[in-house]
Amino acid sequence: MKKEAGWNFDNSYARLPKMFYSNVKPTPVKEPEMVIFNEELARSLGLNAKMLKHEGAAVFAGNEVPEDADPIAQAYAGHQFGHFTMLGDGRAVLLGEHVTPNGKRFDIQLKGSGRTPYSRGGDGRAALGPMLRECIISEAMHALGIPTTRSLSVVTTGEPVIREGRLEGAVLTRVAASHLRVGTFEYVVRWGGVENLQILADYAIHRHYPEIKGDENKYLSLLQKVIDRQAELIAQWQLVGFIHGVMNTDNMTISGETIDYGPCAFMDTYDPKTVFSSIDHQGRYAYENQPLIGGWNLARFAETLLPLLHEDKEEAIALAQERVSGFNDIYQTRWLTGMRAKLGLFNKDEKDEQLIGDLLDLMKKHRADFTNTFLALTHREFENSALFQSAEFANWKERWENRLESQKVSEEESAKLMRRSNPAVIPRNHRVEEALEAAVEEGDLRLLERLMNVLANPYNHSSEQLDYAKVPETNIPYVTYCGT
Ligand code: AMP
Ligand code: MG
Ligand code: MG
Repeated sequence: MKKEAGWNFDNSYARLPKMFYSNVKPTPVKEPEMVIFNEELARSLGLNAKMLKHEGAAVFAGNEVPEDADPIAQAYAGHQFGHFTMLGDGRAVLLGEHVTPNGKRFDIQLKGSGRTPYSRGGDGRAALGPMLRECIISEAMHALGIPTTRSLSVVTTGEPVIREGRLEGAVLTRVAASHLRVGTFEYVVRWGGVENLQILADYAIHRHYPEIKGDENKYLSLLQKVIDRQAELIAQWQLVGFIHGVMNTDNMTISGETIDYGPCAFMDTYDPKTVFSSIDHQGRYAYENQPLIGGWNLARFAETLLPLLHEDKEEAIALAQERVSGFNDIYQTRWLTGMRAKLGLFNKDEKDEQLIGDLLDLMKKHRADFTNTFLALTHREFENSALFQSAEFANWKERWENRLESQKVSEEESAKLMRRSNPAVIPRNHRVEEALEAAVEEGDLRLLERLMNVLANPYNHSSEQLDYAKVPETNIPYVTYCGT
């Protein structure tokens, strides 16, 4: 592709020690065809959106490598369902880092781009359905204001991928602040020694947290930054009912962005034990466990940093433990602030936790829809559901209304706060499935485009949006799959 595409690559990761990655080019595909191109994102990156939309398929399929790109597959390890494993980009290559006109640096990664030295038994490929699913949900997360990797494009390859049956192959272009993971640190400390660990930690600081460079113990500051960002992120997930589904340490970023949209899904009926992933038999990554697992993953991160935290091992452990044990309070405070906002509360009252907890208990007991319960509270429109008809709820509502009155803000102000804290629409599982089915089975993108348009403005509470948010009656449990 010619220069006019707007690429501005500077590949700092490829200048790191050799053990951090492998040089590997994407494997060309038979017939690249653009399915989705995110023009808004392209423009925000300073790319030539028009040109890439029409001529970019070859690049986004990996057939043409832009000048100055330096494709690599990154090495990493990770704890998968609690067990340490060597991993790495098994079906992705990092084309390079694109620096925007404002000087912001983003990884441009092709996912589904062929085999790499880290592919193990896999084919390095991805199917159209899951790549479109990642595109829908990651962009919805972004619109919800939740830090996430983004989706620039999905192209089909003209080649089948063999899974349970033959599926249409596709490549997703993922844009991320970086692909540094907790698992990257686990890999480097295990096989690279302290010298390489320090290089990686300095790189992470330079790239994501330059403000801590001059700190007395900058590696301790790094640990704290990642703890803060992850507490913020996971609190945001909980507040919209997002279930990641595979919170392995290789899927936890140092930047604090949500990554890996394999088996994730949004909760409909409120049940803290909700699990969608077909492989999560123990419920390790259930909704209610996400903060706990966040803390567990951060403990693994802290362990990798020990050699840098203090020369005395006992001291290093004490420092790390103190920070990691602070995670829960940071998370809880952020979550509570978010929950207050969802209920229209600006100020604090010591009984708020009880008020919120009681609502959640009632929602659970009456199997209320998570998103729509908060919507009903926002609009004061209580349909004939088991929850809203119960005497317990009437009692709770009176407590809530008294609490609202106790703060010195107008009704309109608190209603506004609720509207911007409670999405009118989330990626409903049935909506995502109907859109994917039409796109994959019939090549009809209309439902998908409509869905993505609606999800682009989740806090727009117009009647059209609210109509779209309705939940169908179903008793069939929703199941998600990891990485097709
Ligand atoms: P995930 O469960 O999505 O976090 O992926 C775990 C690991 O499996 C990562 O190292 C992936 O790169 C790798 N992987 C997933 N699917 C494939 C595939 N089709 N071919 C090769 N590697 C894969
Ligand atoms: Mg992953
Ligand atoms: Mg995955």
